[in-house]
Amino acid sequence: MGDLRPHPVTGEVFDSPVPPGTGWPGDPATPDTPVAHTAGEVRRLAATAEDTTELDARVSVCRACRRLVRWRESVAREGRRAAFADQPYWGRPGPGFGDPEADVLVVGLAPAANGTNRTGRIFTGDRSGDWLYAALHRAGYASQPGSWASGDGQSLRGMRIVAAVRCAPPENRPTPDERETCGPWLDRELVLAAPRLRSVLALGAIGWEATLAGARRAGYEVPRPKPRFGHGAEAQLATPEGRPVRLVGSYHVSQQNTFTGKLTEAMLDDVIARL
Ligand code: SF4
Repeated sequence: MGDLRPHPVTGEVFDSPVPPGTGWPGDPATPDTPVAHTAGEVRRLAATAEDTTELDARVSVCRACRRLVRWRESVAREGRRAAFADQPYWGRPGPGFGDPEADVLVVGLAPAANGTNRTGRIFTGDRSGDWLYAALHRAGYASQPGSWASGDGQSLRGMRIVAAVRCAPPENRPTPDERETCGPWLDRELVLAAPRLRSVLALGAIGWEATLAGARRAGYEVPRPKPRFGHGAEAQLATPEGRPVRLVGSYHVSQQNTFTGKLTEAMLDDVIARL
């Protein structure tokens, strides 16, 4: 421990990156949570996670992608944005967030270096998250219109948010290998959700592709040829038990879409209403 800073909600001090099980709000892991160091260990630990609590814990300590581990931890130690220089950085993968009994899943791309990688909660502490949670609040899924820090009181009802890749990648671009290595965490999410899943909102083409690939590996029926991504695109999947699941595509809530008007609030509200 050497770089202790106070959490913006609790005031408790933490090192960056945050060691598992040290009291960070919402940290799903303990010091005993098994750590994946290779793609094979990701597959094994994902496939044996019994529920989303265990899955979140294992995701949150994963170290299988060397480039991403180096990047997320270097941002946490040295690369903080000036506005957050006085805060501790999570510096670990972003676990899923939301209702363990959710019948709706949201699949994003990957954490942001100064968003989830700082706050420890997916889509939290950046402009993308401001957009997403505001829309989810309007639709009745989120308890608060904003999500700025773990421990801020935000909660989701009937929905869980996950990502195709769980570590912040340099320039928001995970490599194909990193996407493949991280895939089993999403596969398991889809297996665990299958008994009640009703719909999935895929954010961006990568969220869409990851959902289709994960659903196929998880034993879902996926249409062939593969449905094409677009804003408002829809595809009908079926769980291994044959229950229909609606996949809806949306442009990602990244600033390059929301600042330019490519994605408007009305467009986002419209796709969320279809879930
Ligand atoms: Fe693990 Fe996924 Fe992060 Fe790779 S991107 S280290 S598989 S959590």
